[in-house]
Amino acid sequence: MSEKALAFFCVPKLNFKLSGVNALRTKITLACTDCKQRNYNTTKDKKAHPDRMEAKKYCRFCNSHTTHKETK
Ligand SMILES: [Zn+2]
Repeated sequence: MSEKALAFFCVPKLNFKLSGVNALRTKITLACTDCKQRNYNTTKDKKAHPDRMEAKKYCRFCNSHTTHKETK
């Protein structure tokens, strides 16, 4: 296994040790429901939000605050 691949596999373990509870957080993308642009990358606690999240956020394409939904 190359050094690079080894480092890749070690990172999640390191994060788990350092952040504890935050290790449960999942990366999600929030997309504007009006123009479908993916404007935000964020994380969520899957235990607190098992379903798709929604949030009112600023969309620079719509030039206003719109509902953003979690997308894959
Ligand atoms: Zn938009």
